[in-house]
Amino acid sequence: MNSEINNPVIEVHDLTVSYNKKPAIWDIDFMIPEGKLVGIIGPNGAGKSTLIKAMMELIPHDSGYVKLFNQELDNVRDKIAYVPQRGSVDWDFPASVLDIVLMGRYGKRGIFNRLKNEDKKIAMQCLEKVGMQQFINRQISQLSGGQQQRVFIARSLAQEADLYFMDEPFAGIDATTEKTIFDLLLNMRSEGKTILVVHHDLQSAYEYFDWIILLNTQLIAAGPKEEIFVPEYLQKTYGGKLSLLMNVGQLLSEMEAPLRERK
Ligand code: ADP
Ligand code: MG
Repeated sequence: MNSEINNPVIEVHDLTVSYNKKPAIWDIDFMIPEGKLVGIIGPNGAGKSTLIKAMMELIPHDSGYVKLFNQELDNVRDKIAYVPQRGSVDWDFPASVLDIVLMGRYGKRGIFNRLKNEDKKIAMQCLEKVGMQQFINRQISQLSGGQQQRVFIARSLAQEADLYFMDEPFAGIDATTEKTIFDLLLNMRSEGKTILVVHHDLQSAYEYFDWIILLNTQLIAAGPKEEIFVPEYLQKTYGGKLSLLMNVGQLLSEMEAPLRERK
């Protein structure tokens, strides 16, 4: 199951990426339409982060290609923002919350140009959107995990991109931060942005996303969530671990409930 679409924002074709000759993602094909909130779902080690890094050309491809807005990445870099997985970032460097968010503005201004007052204003607005405006002078290393996550999301907002890649923005955060981030994603979608989010909780994935990519080294399925969240694909993605992760029967009956009501 892999939906064909016209004018996709992302087109991934035959993409294979390896570490030390061992494929981490293999022969991946999919397209993503504009304005969707997309979940990249799969077990630990499935290649979710690798897929995002490969789309951002942070790691080389063995084969295949990626088109973003029907272009090579280099032609559309200023339209794309990336929030890396939190554990993958070194938090010990000295930088304030405002400095971090202002970094998001350099793509617009170029690194040799001075930032303007307008950039600071935009950075402040982005911090407000994630509820971190009262922390502007705090060192990033002194924030909790959820607060750091919100600052890095604010930096990506400051880029004013059209396409966002976010690697596990919901990992290790409290329920209030989760709600703040989810509401923000819904707002971004209503502005026509396309957002790809790596996520590992199946239960909330069905609630959060419009479109789902199921990944386990190979692409299992990609498309509208109603077509993808079916036992066959979930089983293929998670195998025997599925029953440990969730009450599949319960979830599926919840999903079917609205259909039954329509009869
Ligand atoms: P996920 O994000 O789904 O948990 P990753 O993309 O991080 O998965 O990893 C996919 C596979 O590639 C895993 O088996 C992981 O151990 C391996 N891997 C990831 N990064 C590296 C690396 N830098 N060097 C070698 N192997 C890696
Ligand atoms: Mg990962």
